[in-house]
Amino acid sequence: MERVKSYVCGEWVRGSEAAEPLRNPTTEEVIGECAAEGIDYAACLEYARRKGGPVLRGMSFAARGRILERMSKITHELRDELIELAVRNGGNTRADAKFDIDGASHTLATYARIGEGLGDRTFVVDGEIEQLGRSPRFVGGHIAVPLTGAAVHINAFNFPAWGVAEKAAVALLAGMPVVTRPATSTALVAARLVEALVSVEALPAGALSFIAGGRAASLLDPLSSQDVVAFTGSRTTGEAVRGRTNVLRESVRINVEADSLNAAVLGPDAGAAGATYDLFVRDTVHEMTQKAGQKCTATRRIFVPAALLERAQEDLAAGLRAVTVGDPARRDVSMGPLVSAEQLASVREGIELLQRTCATVHDGSEHGELLGVEAGKGYFIAPVLLIAAAAREANIVHEHEVFGPVATLMPYNGDPAEAACYVRLGNGGLVSSVYTDDREFARAMVFALAPHHGRVYLGSARVAEQAPGPGTVLPLLVHGGPGHAGGGEELGGPRGLAFYLQRVAIEGDRPMVEKILGVS
Ligand code: NAP
Repeated sequence: MERVKSYVCGEWVRGSEAAEPLRNPTTEEVIGECAAEGIDYAACLEYARRKGGPVLRGMSFAARGRILERMSKITHELRDELIELAVRNGGNTRADAKFDIDGASHTLATYARIGEGLGDRTFVVDGEIEQLGRSPRFVGGHIAVPLTGAAVHINAFNFPAWGVAEKAAVALLAGMPVVTRPATSTALVAARLVEALVSVEALPAGALSFIAGGRAASLLDPLSSQDVVAFTGSRTTGEAVRGRTNVLRESVRINVEADSLNAAVLGPDAGAAGATYDLFVRDTVHEMTQKAGQKCTATRRIFVPAALLERAQEDLAAGLRAVTVGDPARRDVSMGPLVSAEQLASVREGIELLQRTCATVHDGSEHGELLGVEAGKGYFIAPVLLIAAAAREANIVHEHEVFGPVATLMPYNGDPAEAACYVRLGNGGLVSSVYTDDREFARAMVFALAPHHGRVYLGSARVAEQAPGPGTVLPLLVHGGPGHAGGGEELGGPRGLAFYLQRVAIEGDRPMVEKILGVS
């Protein structure tokens, strides 16, 4: 039995004997294990701070970018092996796995280019130098410098490669060493990726540490005020991270990426035919079923003008009927299982909860068999589309994230104000999408949704052939959202660096300030 090791203080360690099994969610077979105890978190953090931090801070952005470029290439070279592991340990179809792994190498490559663009500097100059005194002699300006602690990254199970890479890319480029911890259930992909990076010495010593298994909460206790935590996971775990006593005492900087009741809104102008309508149907079916709906950006709520409801219902159900569920290793399967027995139980409970308020439009379990799956095995659930007659009365639909291939359709009266009002019942989201070619409708929706979201996706005929869909997080755009979505923000090109940097105002005489900031 392979025990996933942790990489701490420059060595691979096995952890203690107590172990948590890792399963293949298609067969339920145990394919590995993570140690549950036995890693010295304090020593791991100290090694990162003392060994990795100074080396990274001494490098220019361009030099840090070259590390990311190498990491991107190694991730890409490992693609086939990681895909195979993601199919076995994550229940990913090959397409799901590529989404995760190619997303990882793409994000690393994007930040490598950003590093190249930032050039020979080791810190960021933020804005202009301002005159502060009566004469031009007394001035002030701002710089942003890397914090001197470690960046702790705690990730969710659904993106084991991208989760490691997207966080590491930004932290390393900013100049902070990383301690990364994947979710236990799908740790094999992240472990293999880090192993490959370490084996070719792609990073300076101490720049990347890896924790497999164990109680993630304990990793928060040795943190100091110069460390940061970027957390991705459920809203409830995010609350626990924020409320950890040591985190509060040390004012540890925290970024929380949590769950979200992402909405899709069909504009009345899109009608029930044409490129924009087709894009709406295609995107919605894809966002419900990619990675078996286990995506923080998956569409959970669908708002359609009342006059188009019946047609949309039929077309979405037809799209879902075409989804083939089964062994994700098979090329004729488009949706694999959920990741674990716990997720399956939670999704089933969630569907029952929603069904107390909603009717069922489509239940995939009534159509077609599981392909290539031994009877009674695996954590499978078929896509489910529900409908709520009155969005305003369907509170549970706006509050409860069912982390599987499940969404609820609701009518609105065609007015953007009403659609936006219903979307906002989700109390803050990662992304919502609007399908329209009507610029006034789009404009009204953007400004009504913007304060409540990290991203608004506008699907129209003009982008139908190239837009990747609302569920794709792109490194140049910010990712995160207020309220239910955790209140965090990641990525966004160079904007993402701010989380790992301390902004400081410098005031003094002009020649001295200019010299220090490297501007004139
Ligand atoms: P989770 O149960 O909240 O776990 C997330 C991570 O936190 C895991 O690594 C977990 O470790 C760790 N953890 C568990 N208890 C902890 C504690 N008390 N303190 C610190 N860390 C703790 O979430 P999940 O089931 O892996 O992922 C699904 C959820 O993540 C969904 O709600 C989804 O919407 C959300 N998500 C959000 C985003 C985003 O970017 N906003 C992206 C992906 C997923 P163990 O695995 O060892 O329990």
